[in-house]
Amino acid sequence: MQALTTDTDGGVVDALLEQTARFCAREVDARAIDAAAQIPSAVLEGLGALGLFGVTLPEAHGGAGLSLADACRVVEVLARFDRSVAVSVGLHLGLGTRGLVRYGTPAQHARWLPALASGACVAAFSTTEPGAGSDLSALRTTATEDGERLRVSGEKSYVTNGAFAGLFTVAVSTPGLGGAQRGQSLLLVEPTDAGFAVQREEHKLGLKGSSTTGLLFDDATLPRDRLLGEPGQGARMLQHILSWGRTLMSAGCCGGAAFAIDKALAHTAQRTQFGRPLAALDVVQERLARLRARHFAMEALVMATAAQADDDALATHSLAAKVFCSEGAGFVADEALQLHGALGFIEDTGLALVVRDVRVTRIFEGANDVLLTHLGQSELLRLATKPVDAGAPALDRALADFARALHDTHRLRIFRAPRLLHALGAATQWVMASRAATARAHHTMQPTHLALAQLVEQEARSAVSRAAAVTADAAVFQQALGLERLGVTP
Ligand SMILES: Cc1cc2nc3c(=O)[nH]c(=O)nc-3n(C[C@H](O)[C@H](O)[C@H](O)COP(=O)(O)OP(=O)(O)OC[C@H]3O[C@@H](n4cnc5c(N)ncnc54)[C@H](O)[C@@H]3O)c2cc1C
Repeated sequence: MQALTTDTDGGVVDALLEQTARFCAREVDARAIDAAAQIPSAVLEGLGALGLFGVTLPEAHGGAGLSLADACRVVEVLARFDRSVAVSVGLHLGLGTRGLVRYGTPAQHARWLPALASGACVAAFSTTEPGAGSDLSALRTTATEDGERLRVSGEKSYVTNGAFAGLFTVAVSTPGLGGAQRGQSLLLVEPTDAGFAVQREEHKLGLKGSSTTGLLFDDATLPRDRLLGEPGQGARMLQHILSWGRTLMSAGCCGGAAFAIDKALAHTAQRTQFGRPLAALDVVQERLARLRARHFAMEALVMATAAQADDDALATHSLAAKVFCSEGAGFVADEALQLHGALGFIEDTGLALVVRDVRVTRIFEGANDVLLTHLGQSELLRLATKPVDAGAPALDRALADFARALHDTHRLRIFRAPRLLHALGAATQWVMASRAATARAHHTMQPTHLALAQLVEQEARSAVSRAAAVTADAAVFQQALGLERLGVTP
C-alpha cells in the first residue's frame, strides 16, 4: 500500500522514512517482540540514532523540528513493522512531549528536551486513574502547595512507556491552585522523585512489547517548577496534547492496516481455489476494494487532521480520525485475516498479531463511544454557527439535515441526550473521512483514487442513513436490559 504523503518535507522526511523502513526490516521482529513482551534495547537505541525520538522536538534542543504530519508518516511506517514500537515512539512524540514543547518554560526545555530528542530519555503521559478513565473530571491524584514544594498523593493506571520513561507528564487535581476551585494541572515527574514509584507491568492482549504500568504517588514532594504551564489550566492543555496523541495514534492505525492489506492482496493473488486465484472471485474483489477504500480514507483523514492549524479544528478532526482509524484498523485486520482462511488464524502469518495489537486503539486515548458523543456535540455546535448552504455537496447536506432534525425535535434537550449525539458523531466521522478522501482523490486525479473515494462516499451515505434511523426510545433498551435486576438506576 502507498504510504502517507505530505507536500512540505522537501525530501528530508522521505529520506528519514526510507532509513526507518530499512532499519525496521533489518532489526524489528514483531513476533519476537510479542513473544518476549519487550522491545529489545538495541531497537530503541537504533531508533534514537535515526533521530526518531526528536522528530517533532525543536531544532534548538537537538530535535528535527518537523510537523505533526511528518511525525504521522514516521509512526505509520513503524506500525507497518510493529505496533508496539509505533506506540512507544508515537506516545513519546505526542502525549509524552507535546505538553512540554508547547507549554514548557525555557528552563524546562533546556533541562529535558535534549535528552528527549536523542532518545536517551523516553517520555510518558498519565491521566488515567483507577476511578477516572473516561471521566477525567474525576481525577483523585492531588497536588497541594507545601511552601515552595508540591505534595502529591494518588495512583495512576495504564501508563504507556511507564517502565523505562525518564519523564512523565501527569494530570493531577489541584484544588485552589491558580485560583480555580476544582482545577487540574500538569506536572513533570522524574522516576527518581521522592515518594514516586512505577508499579508492575501489565499483561495485555496485544501491544505486548509496549510497556504499560501504574504509578504511585505516596506523599511525593516535587519542586514547584515542575508545574507545566498555568496552574489550574490542565483541561485546556490536555485538549491540545490529546489532539496530537490521537492524530499520531490514528497514523499508527493506518500502518497496521497497510500491513494487513498488503498481506491480503498478496495472499489472494497467489492462493488458488475453484481453479482460480481467490482475487479473481468477485466477492473477494469487493472485499479487497472496500479494505483499500477504508485505508485510503483513513490516511486522507489523518493528513487532513494533521494539517489543521487551529486548535479547535485540530481537536474536532482528531476525534473523528481517532474513531475512524481505530475502527478501520480493526475492520481491515479482521477482514484480511478472514481472506487468509485458516492461515490467518495461525500466528506465523502475522495477522493474528495485528488483530490483537489494534484492538486497544478503540479503547485508549479516549474510548470511541465517548469520543463519538463529543464529536456529535461539536458538529451540532458547528452547524449552529456555520449552516451548510444549498450548493454544498449532497453528503454535507444530508448530515446537516440529520443534525437539524435532531435539534428541531429535541431543542436544547439534545445536549442531555448522549445517545443521539453519539449517533450524530458516528455519521460525522464518516462524512469527514469521505470529505478528506474526495479531496485527496481530486488532488491526485488518479482513476484508482477517484474510485476509492467513490466507495467511501457510498459508505458514508449509508452511515448517515443508519445514524438518522436511531429513533428507539431509551426506555426500550432499559426494559430489554432489565436494569433493575442488575441493581442499576437509570
Ligand atoms: C494498553 C493501554 C495503554 C494505555 N496508555 C495510557 C497512557 O499512556 N496514559 C493514560 O493516561 N492512559 C492510558 N491508558 C488508559 C486509557 O486511556 C483508558 O483505558 C481509556 O481512557 C478508557 O478508560 P477506562 O479503561 O477506565 O474505561 P471506562 O471509562 O471504565 O469505560 C469503559 C467502557 O464504558 C463505555 N463508556 C464509558 N463512558 C461512556 C460514555 N460517556 N458514553 C458511552 N459509553 C461509555 C465505553 O464502551 C468504554 O469503553 C491505556 C490503556 C491501555 C489498555
